[in-house]
Amino acid sequence: MNVLVLNCGSSSIKYQLLEMGENPEVRAKGIVERIGLKMGCLAHKNDRNQKYETETEVPNHTVGIKLVLEALTNKEHGVIESLDEIKAVGHRVAHGGEFFTQSVLITDEVIAKIKDCCDLAPLHNPAHLLGMYAMKDVLPTVPQTAVFDTSFHQSMPASSYMYPLPYSLYEQYKIRRYGFHGTSHKFVAEKACKILGWDIKDKKIITCHLGNGASITAIKYGDSVDTSMGFTPVEGVMMGTRTGDLDLGALLFIMEKEKLSISQANSFINKECGTNGFSEISSDMRDLQDEAKKGNERAILTLDMYAHRVKKYIGSYAAVMNGVDLIVMTGGIGENSDVIRKMVLTDMNYLGVEFDAVKNTDLRGTDATISKSDSKVKIMTITTDEELVIAMDTVKLVFG
Ligand code: AMP
Repeated sequence: MNVLVLNCGSSSIKYQLLEMGENPEVRAKGIVERIGLKMGCLAHKNDRNQKYETETEVPNHTVGIKLVLEALTNKEHGVIESLDEIKAVGHRVAHGGEFFTQSVLITDEVIAKIKDCCDLAPLHNPAHLLGMYAMKDVLPTVPQTAVFDTSFHQSMPASSYMYPLPYSLYEQYKIRRYGFHGTSHKFVAEKACKILGWDIKDKKIITCHLGNGASITAIKYGDSVDTSMGFTPVEGVMMGTRTGDLDLGALLFIMEKEKLSISQANSFINKECGTNGFSEISSDMRDLQDEAKKGNERAILTLDMYAHRVKKYIGSYAAVMNGVDLIVMTGGIGENSDVIRKMVLTDMNYLGVEFDAVKNTDLRGTDATISKSDSKVKIMTITTDEELVIAMDTVKLVFG
């Protein structure tokens, strides 16, 4: 059974067609970009490794979706004969506010609630809605689902998600911590427990999703009880271009000195800071590691800061849960950077974490244990796959 997964941005549509079953497989994936601009484009790749690229006018999301469906059914580079073979569509949705604690089938009521959350994710939710409308236009009878980045974290207690702001601001604007990357945190925690033969309901887990965007989550007995991203994805650990935690007073000082408007300040903290801004080298961890190896002092300090901040969250989440049984590293950096893993996870024996430096560099498979066999706390690297989670949730919702 084929499930189409869509991640619609304001000017782009990322897609994957997955054949679901015992061993789900990606049949095709690609991206439509520059929607609404003079000339749009599509880049498509199928499971026979054939690539197809085209430039054409894509004035809106409906035309973009039609382009995707045309690529999927094309005689040469397509992977299905007819659109009837698409049994369901799953949408990634950035923000479900306080409405959604899990993935849902899309109905008029769901659309209205996603609309209500547009204020909280002004760049993302309106674009997701355009994708849903466009899909309904083109394939009106195919069931659609919404899978939210925020829903897994709705289990956080108020003591974790409230900010020390006047309570009226929460009541009026719903300003609180929501957290993101929920699909990834849930997926890797469950996958690790499955591999270890553990019941997640008995365990305390810290999941570190370290990619270009990064967040860390404390999962107690299967529920997210704290996470490092907050009202927006800027809070938390240092990221590729986002600050992570920063003294608000420093931002106000910078805004005054540099005469930044609110939108310039927003762009600054999201796009010009983090490892890229601080190092003035790159947001890419591989470049920073290469430079550090050559002795570049700024690159060395950037790596030290990055690891220090991740370590701090792990320590604080162990404190929040009164212990930890498993630490999971995932995302582009968590899965691939033995350097960062080593910097973060050594000297944590006070917690019962015994890191194995040999296993760390000599990973056996992509999902691997990198703690010593007698370590009280297990450490694992687990590959994440957000599209697969969306497809799996979609199958569950549509077909039971
Ligand atoms: P993501 O956003 O999850 O795709 O992760 C992107 C980040 O992963 C970038 O900072 C990459 O530099 C980093 N990354 C990918 N492969 C490696 C690697 N082999 N070593 C270190 N960092 C890596």
